[in-house]
Amino acid sequence: MISTDLSTDQQQSDTNKVSRHCYVQVVLDKPLVQGFDYIWDADELGCMPTIGQLVEVPFGRANTVAIVIKVSNHSDYEHSKLRKVSQRAPLPPLDSKTLGMLNFASQYYFSTLGEIALPSIPAYWKKPKKWQALTQKADDNELKPAKKTSNKKAAVEQKAEVPEPPSGIQKDQLNAEQTKALHHLMGDANAEQKYRAILLQGKTGSGKTAVYLNWIKAALRSDDDQALILVPEINLTPQLEKRIAEFFPDKRIAVMHSGLTEKRRGIAWQEAALGKAQIILGTRLAALAAIPNLKAIVVDEEHDASYKQQEGTRYSARDLCVWRAHQLAIPVVLASATPSLETWLAAEDGRYERIRLDTRAVSSVMPKVKLVRLNKTGTASSPGNPHLISSEVRNAVTRNLLQKKQSLVLINRRGYAPILSCSACSWLSGCSKCSSYMVMHKSSILGKKAVLNCHHCGLIKEVPPFCPECGNAELGTIGQGTQQMEDYIQAQWPNAKVLRIDADSSKKSANAEGLFEQIHDGTADIIVGTQMIAKGHDYQNIGLVAVIDADSRLFSQDYRAAERLFAQLVQVAGRAGRASKEQDDAGEICIETRYPDLPVFRHVLGHDVDGFLGHIAAERKDALLPPYSFQALIHAEAKNISTAIQFLADIKKTVRREIDFPDGVRMYDPVPKSIVRVSSMERAQLVIESDSRKNLQQALTQLDQVLRRSSQGRISIGSRVRWLIERDPLLI
Ligand code: ADP
Ligand code: ZN
Ligand code: ZN
Repeated sequence: MISTDLSTDQQQSDTNKVSRHCYVQVVLDKPLVQGFDYIWDADELGCMPTIGQLVEVPFGRANTVAIVIKVSNHSDYEHSKLRKVSQRAPLPPLDSKTLGMLNFASQYYFSTLGEIALPSIPAYWKKPKKWQALTQKADDNELKPAKKTSNKKAAVEQKAEVPEPPSGIQKDQLNAEQTKALHHLMGDANAEQKYRAILLQGKTGSGKTAVYLNWIKAALRSDDDQALILVPEINLTPQLEKRIAEFFPDKRIAVMHSGLTEKRRGIAWQEAALGKAQIILGTRLAALAAIPNLKAIVVDEEHDASYKQQEGTRYSARDLCVWRAHQLAIPVVLASATPSLETWLAAEDGRYERIRLDTRAVSSVMPKVKLVRLNKTGTASSPGNPHLISSEVRNAVTRNLLQKKQSLVLINRRGYAPILSCSACSWLSGCSKCSSYMVMHKSSILGKKAVLNCHHCGLIKEVPPFCPECGNAELGTIGQGTQQMEDYIQAQWPNAKVLRIDADSSKKSANAEGLFEQIHDGTADIIVGTQMIAKGHDYQNIGLVAVIDADSRLFSQDYRAAERLFAQLVQVAGRAGRASKEQDDAGEICIETRYPDLPVFRHVLGHDVDGFLGHIAAERKDALLPPYSFQALIHAEAKNISTAIQFLADIKKTVRREIDFPDGVRMYDPVPKSIVRVSSMERAQLVIESDSRKNLQQALTQLDQVLRRSSQGRISIGSRVRWLIERDPLLI
């Protein structure tokens, strides 16, 4: 286990007794377990050190940023051998609670404290060359902490209002069900704050946002109190940000996501860390932000897979929020229409509280779901059929256009076609660096030209004019992506305004905002897109949602595929009929499938979330899969797969020989990943499983030691295999 001692030998209050020289231990953004000692020259640095301070230190031949984790007046190293801290950042130190959370995360997710703490600070603050200029700015008062005196009176008044939720709510007047939910959420407003985890399970369109915003208003009892709201995707935030700003006219909002400029993100982080911003709204990365007066957390759309970080330290932002709430003894609300099985079961078992919102706030009706049966052999676009979508769906689109309503057409792949192929020989557009195909894109990546683009390694190539194998000039495509669907739909309904929304068309967040605006203001008639269009948006005039070839999402080795598809279908269905008053007018959902009898589709028909989750819970229980067991992966990556497999096999042997694993911890055989090669590296993995989270953690701690013993950082000595331990993997 990588435990980092955050204690201070020298109490902060004692620091003035220390000589003007003392020692600090710092951590770096490197897979090195140990901290490094440096001399702190208080005369040069202008103050005594504080734990959590971001500093610049010389390391090897270069300088790097680091975080102070220990302050002491002695070091185990000779004074003459130690180097000095060069500079400190013009930032408040990370508060002890935030640092404690980062330390927990580093232990639970088997990374070093530096590897998780430093990436949690925006790049804007990690450029020591600019620190002096920034300090000057701070001196010019631009970035000083907010003065807290003037609003004190207001704070007292606000506190007096707390027990009666509906008062003080002018906008978004809550309905009876929402008011009841709010009362339940607030609990006893006069009681001490304590840890609570609450699942807010509300149908799509039931007005969850209004409920949790009102709850936050009540939970922020004083001017200094802060709340964290996590949302899944960047493209969701602009709309929500506006709504939140209107709801909290006297609060400052810090928005954090990766689509912001470095500076804006840096300032937002700083305002949260200084306590200047009271509402912190952000994506996954905001879960790690320093928020010293955090009093309430909301994780909206808690089921969303984007809360899981898939690079570097593979943390779950949702799980860390629950941990953080526990650590701080504050409440956390997990909101979703389609909760993750983990959260849903926690509510079923009574580990979490649950509040339901069962009716839609505006329309009170749910759209009608229809399963469109495709024939067994192919999609709607089998050979000889020029249509990419079934005739039922085509008729529905035409009907919907006549009724002046918008249609959403959901297709799971971006680009023009997943594969380019030669009909004369068997050439397919494989990627030279990965064991996958390059996707054909009509244009947009490299100017106007069509290109092949690998979605795994990013490689881009021009489309070859003829087959590289046999010279045949007639190359064809296999399958369809959003671009092809856009062309097809435009050709079918030439008078309709067609809009495509996918990761390519919405690269910049300003772009995404503009695209979604065209849905909201009614400019677009038919919107073609990936699941991006389904998430969280509150559209007013969607009459039809068509899911093209839903089965394509179902067939993978991933045992969570059905759970994920179900959530997507319910979420996208929830975009329709949001403003409708009558059942006749409630909108229509058409789902194309070859297997309408599968439970995932049957439960969607009745919008039966609990029924479906109950069903998969039973399946997982039988198979002893998560959440009925706990898992971890060891990832191994090498120049060739046999090296990676051998490395994992050796680890397994060593473990068998040397380690006494706790009972019930199972270690499987190493296997190649489903996509073996990515960016010219070949990948394997090994699953470790246990019925007990604690036993698994204990086993992994020992395993981590075995791995580290024969590695430099995270590269094995000799075989040069890069390894990583992942807790609670979503994909195995
Ligand atoms: P959810 O997140 O549950 O899908 P939203 O919070 O987006 O739902 O709310 C759906 C719609 O209902 C929004 O347009 C919202 O403004 C509206 N709404 C919410 N609560 C009320 C209410 N009490 N009265 C009228 N409209 C409401
Ligand atoms: Zn060929
Ligand atoms: Zn590739």
